[in-house]
Amino acid sequence: MKSRREFLRALGAVALAPAISFERTEPELILYNANIITIDDRRPRAQAVAIADGRFLAVGGNERVRALAGAGTKKIDLGGKTIVPGFIDAHTHPAVAGRMHLRQVDCDLRSITAIQEAIRARAAKTPAGNWVLGFKYDDTKTAEGRPLTLADLDAAAPEHPVYISHRGGHTAYVNSRALERAHITDETPDPPGGRLDRDPASGKRNGRISERANEVFNKLIPEVNSREDYRAGVKLISEMMSRTGITSAHDAYGYHGDLRAYQDARDAGELSVRIYCLIGHSEIDRMLEAGVRTGFGNEWVRVGAMKMTCDGSISERTARLSQPYVGRPNDFGIQVMTEEELYEKGRKAHEADWQIGVHANGDVAIDTVLRVYERLQRERPRRDPRFRLEHCTLINDDLVRRIRALGAIPTPFAAYVYYHGEKFREYGPERLDHMFALRSFLDAGIRVAPGSDYPPGPFEPMMALQSAVTRTDSKGNVWGARQRITVEEALRVQTLHGAYASFEEHLKGSIERGKLADLVVLGRDPLRELPSSLISIPVERTMVGGRWVFEA
Ligand SMILES: [Zn+2]
Repeated sequence: MKSRREFLRALGAVALAPAISFERTEPELILYNANIITIDDRRPRAQAVAIADGRFLAVGGNERVRALAGAGTKKIDLGGKTIVPGFIDAHTHPAVAGRMHLRQVDCDLRSITAIQEAIRARAAKTPAGNWVLGFKYDDTKTAEGRPLTLADLDAAAPEHPVYISHRGGHTAYVNSRALERAHITDETPDPPGGRLDRDPASGKRNGRISERANEVFNKLIPEVNSREDYRAGVKLISEMMSRTGITSAHDAYGYHGDLRAYQDARDAGELSVRIYCLIGHSEIDRMLEAGVRTGFGNEWVRVGAMKMTCDGSISERTARLSQPYVGRPNDFGIQVMTEEELYEKGRKAHEADWQIGVHANGDVAIDTVLRVYERLQRERPRRDPRFRLEHCTLINDDLVRRIRALGAIPTPFAAYVYYHGEKFREYGPERLDHMFALRSFLDAGIRVAPGSDYPPGPFEPMMALQSAVTRTDSKGNVWGARQRITVEEALRVQTLHGAYASFEEHLKGSIERGKLADLVVLGRDPLRELPSSLISIPVERTMVGGRWVFEA
C-alpha cells in the first residue's frame, strides 16, 4: 500500500480535474494496454484506466496509471483491444419489451405462414377465449409481400381473440374474436386520432387498427403480469442489452409499474443497464402530487422527462407529413394529440420544472411541438429545460434553426436506415435526405442523441454505428447520403450526447476521471474498420460501475 501523499502525487501526474473525492485511493482494478477512445476532447486517447468505487480514478498512459496500483489492485492486460464509453440508448422501451419477450409470440418471422404457425402453437397452450398476443410483426418483411389479415389470424386461432402489434407499436392486427370483444362492427366509425382499416374491395374490416384505435383493445386485454413478471422482464432485457454494449437506456414511456420494476430489479441485483425513465403524461399528476420531478432517483434508476405523443410512426408509415406518402396522394399521416392538448399538459410539467419529451416524427408534428416549446419558454423562461423531440425524423432548415435556438435535443432512430430500408420507398429518396438527419443536427451544433426505440428498431449499437456512417440499408441501398457522419461523431452521439439528454454529462458518456466506470471492450477498432463491416465488430465485454456485466 502506498502512502496517501505518494498516491496523490502519482494521481496528479495522470488526472486532470474535476475534483472528485474518492472514498478509496487505491484502485480496485486497472485496465491497461488498451486502445481507449475516451470521447473526452481534452484527452481523446488513452491506454489505461484505474477504477475505484465504480468510477474512473485515473485515465492516461500505461505506466502512469499502473503506478497507482496497490497490493489489492487487480490488473488486466487488454492486449491492445479497443475500449469505448458505454453506449447510451436515448430512446427505447426496455421494461415493456422485456415483458413482451416473456409473454408474447415474437412475430419477427419472415413469412405469414410462419407467424400463423407460431400463433397456432401459442393458442394450443392457451385456454379458449383467452387473448393470444404477439409483437414485432413487420408488414414489409414477410415472403408473401402482403400484410397480415383478419382471415390469416382467424385461420390461426379461431377460438381466441388475437392481437398482434406491429414492430413500430402504433398499429396492430386483430382477428374476428377480438373485434367482437371490442363491439366493433363494419359500421363502427373511426375513433378520434385513430383508424379502423377496411379492405378497399369489400369495405369490410381487414383487422388492421392504428393509433388511438388501439386504446379500445388495450383496455380489454387483462394485465396478466405480476410484480415478479415485471422484474423478470427487466432482468431479461437488461441482459439482452448488456451483451451489445448498452450501459444506459432512456425508457421513452414508463408507467409507475415500470419504474417499480426497475427498482425491484436493481434491488435484486438484476439490473445491468442504468435507466432514465420518461413518464407517460397520464401519470404526471400523481408524480406532481408526490413532489417528484425529472432527475429524482439515483445513478441506476432516475425519473426522466414527461412523455407525450404528437403523431404516428415512421416504420408503419403513419407519421404526420406536410407532403403525402408516395403512392397515397391523400395520406398525410396521423396527428395524435392536438397542439392545445400538448400545450395544456406541457405547461403543467414545464411549470413544475420537468423536462418534456414529445414524440414527433413528421415535419408537421415537429413544427407543432416546437410551437408548444417556444410558447412555454416565452411564458415561463427556464435556463436549461433541455426539451426533447423524440425521433424528430423529417426536418427542414427552419425546424433545425428553431431546435438550435431552443437548445432542444432530437433523439432520432439510430438504426432505421440500415434495418428499415424497404419502407423508405413510401417516403421517397428526396425526403430521405432530410430524415434521421444526424449531419444537419451536428452541423447546427445540436446535441442530437439517437435511440433504438426497441422494439420498433434493433438496439445493437454497432448496427447504429454502421447505419449512421454509411446511410446504407441491409440490401445495399443508400438513403440520404448527405446525412452521413464519421465514426468518431457516431460514437460521440451514442455516448456523450445521450448523457447530456438526461442531464448526466457530468456523470457518464465519456471516459474521464470522476465519471462512472461504464465501458465496452470491442473486438476491433471501429476507427480502423471498413464502414460496411462496422456491424460485425464483436462486443467482448461490458462494464457498468466498475463491474463486468457481460463477458463473451
Ligand atoms: Zn418510442
